[in-house]
Amino acid sequence: MIMVCDRDYSITLSNNSANIILGAGESLIGQKCYQVLRQAGNPCFDCPLQDTINSGTIIPLVKFDERYNEYFEERCFPIMAADNTVKSFILYVKNITKSRELEEKSSQMKKLSALGQISSGVAHDFNNVLTVVLGRVQLMKKQISDPYMLKSLDMIEKSALDGASKVRKIQEFSRPHSKTLSQTVNLNEIIEEVVEITRPKWDVASKIRGILIEPIVDLQPDIFIMGDSSDIRNAFTNIIFNAIDAMPNGGVLSVKTQRTDGYVTVDFKDTGIGMTEETVERIFDPFFTTKGVLGNGLGMSEVYGIIKRHNGKIAVQSEVGVGTTIKLRFPAVRQKTAAAPSDRLDLTVTFSIYIIDDEEYIIETLKDFLSDLGHHVTTNTDPEEALDEISKQHFDIVITDLGMPGISGLELAEKIKALKSETQIVLISGWALNLKAKDIENRIDFIINKPFSFEKINYTLSEIEEKLLKIRQKQTQ
Ligand code: ADP
Ligand code: MG
Repeated sequence: MIMVCDRDYSITLSNNSANIILGAGESLIGQKCYQVLRQAGNPCFDCPLQDTINSGTIIPLVKFDERYNEYFEERCFPIMAADNTVKSFILYVKNITKSRELEEKSSQMKKLSALGQISSGVAHDFNNVLTVVLGRVQLMKKQISDPYMLKSLDMIEKSALDGASKVRKIQEFSRPHSKTLSQTVNLNEIIEEVVEITRPKWDVASKIRGILIEPIVDLQPDIFIMGDSSDIRNAFTNIIFNAIDAMPNGGVLSVKTQRTDGYVTVDFKDTGIGMTEETVERIFDPFFTTKGVLGNGLGMSEVYGIIKRHNGKIAVQSEVGVGTTIKLRFPAVRQKTAAAPSDRLDLTVTFSIYIIDDEEYIIETLKDFLSDLGHHVTTNTDPEEALDEISKQHFDIVITDLGMPGISGLELAEKIKALKSETQIVLISGWALNLKAKDIENRIDFIINKPFSFEKINYTLSEIEEKLLKIRQKQTQ
């Protein structure tokens, strides 16, 4: 809307928009600007005219108009007389609701995208750390026979794998896509692990307090669901913690799995203090706790979310002074026949392998593993140097990191392929890879995500053996 007003705020000219919006189609001439804009009887206390005159620049005023439920920006342009006094002014009013919304959205998007970038960078670094932890644990397991040590290493390995799964969640967050429940999860195995992991709470702590908490585990065979094992582990841990909290004088915690047509059920039963009806009603509310400062009230709300995501059902049965049973039910799946890797682990050849990664510990871990299997391993943290060596000497396989200073794994792969097309290139990366077919085409033969298990590496080597064999057969035909 554009209006021209004189010094006493009377409108002397107005454009069509102003007439339509403020004057309901009638001319505004003769009316005061503060009447038509604000329905006020006096000039506005925040009139931008004076600010504009004082400052010598146009100072816009942003106003929210309740009549239209929209934001308007008002600007005053003074028109000067010959004696340099303000004779009249142009009032320019613009609806800025849409552009404000866009601005807000874009600043929100910027924040989210910064967050995503930070978290995916952190995730990448953690994957490198976990690669070394997992690798060294796997190497140690091959050398140790002491059962206690082996058990400890198993636990370290499991925790590192849990960490890797958490990192994957961060990566999923920064790369939004529908979460798929892609793993076959053995609930019996998870229950046994969780009972073990929570041991400090039910065994050690209860011994200190001189009470007895006895877990009884009753597991039917074949309890498999589709899901995310670390989520399920998390949910079961929360449920068991609550059961132990509910038995300050000791008691029995029994965990029972069962298969019924198409479903599997898990019951966690404690002989604790139980809950009133009101507590049962609020048990899944975030921040609801009866434990004062000792609780945060987030356990069961998290459990609820996890069970729902797994298309499961959760029910709570409780009686004050008798105990509580948390009943879970999930759609069952048949266990997939064991994945191919174990069939193909026995390699009949040894390879000459070149490893390139800017993380020395990762190189060393991979090298120890591969040399142990009899492969000839050369390593380098500098991709340029590596390229030079590879051009002069034959290597069956090049294992390269994706992101490295100077030259990326993809560029490196392309250069190697141009020199030696038969060299097999394995890309290892801690990024959530979303490579397009054209990135990989003719450059990368295999991709392995960090952190990796040695089984995965071995499986890839056996695939390479098979592939090279086929190529050779073709050549001799
Ligand atoms: P928190 O454990 O931090 O209090 P939760 O969400 O895990 O939070 O549980 C919420 C509340 O539900 C608990 O404070 C407790 O009152 C009740 N509750 C959960 N499980 C049990 C149980 N097995 N026996 C008795 N009360 C329970
Ligand atoms: Mg809890």
